Amino acid sequence: MELLKSKILTEGKVLKDDILKVDAFLNHQIDPVLMDAIGKEFASRFAEQPVTKILTIESSGIAPAVMTGLYMNVPVVFARKQKSLTLTDGLLTAQVYSFTKQVNNQIAISSTFISEQDHVLILDDFLANGQAALGLIDLVQQAGATVSGIGIVIEKAFQDGGEKLRDKGFKVESLARIKSLKNKTVDFLDDTREVINE
Ligand code: 5GP
Repeated sequence: MELLKSKILTEGKVLKDDILKVDAFLNHQIDPVLMDAIGKEFASRFAEQPVTKILTIESSGIAPAVMTGLYMNVPVVFARKQKSLTLTDGLLTAQVYSFTKQVNNQIAISSTFISEQDHVLILDDFLANGQAALGLIDLVQQAGATVSGIGIVIEKAFQDGGEKLRDKGFKVESLARIKSLKNKTVDFLDDTREVINE
C-alpha cells in the first residue's frame, strides 16, 4: 500500500534494528485519512472471506480495525490488556508475550461478543513474532468461532510471525512488509509474496 509506505518513509523512525516507531500516524497521533485508506484496503483484501466480526487488541489496533469495520459493515471487538471491573461476563483469556514491552500480558474479551457462529477477521498494527495474533486466535477458538483471516498494517518480515501464521494455514494480509530496518533504513519487500531467503 503506497500511501502507508510513504508515511513510514517520511514519518517513521527506526529505533533499533528490529523496532520501528510510527507514533506520528498510528501508535500515538493518528492520521484519520490514512486510517480510512487502511480500512478500505483491508475490506477489499478480505472481501471474499466471510466476516461477521473484527477482533483486535488495545490500543493501537483499534483505529485501523474501526475503519475496516466501517467498510465491511461489521462490529469491532478489542481485547483488553488491563483487567477491567466491568469485564465480568464469561471472560475468555489468553497469555501474550509483548515484543516491545518484554512482559507477559493477559488479554481478555467477554464471550458475549464472539459466538460459535462468528467468522472473525483478526487485525493488528504490527506483526513481529506473532504472539499477539496467536493470542487473538486463541480467544476466537475458545469462543468456538472461526478465524477468517489476519490483517496486519506493518509486518516485519525479517521476524518469524508471518511464517508461523501462514504455516498454520491462515490467510495473512499485510499492507506493508519490511525486509530490514538495518542501518536506520526501512527496506520494504517489493511484492507481498516475496520471501526472505537468508
Ligand atoms: P508480536 O506479538 O507479533 O511479536 O508483536 C506485535 C505486537 O508488538 C504489536 O501488537 C505491536 O504493538 C508490538 N510491536 C512489535 N514490533 C513493533 C515495532 O517495531 N514497533 C511498534 N511500535 N510496535 C511493535
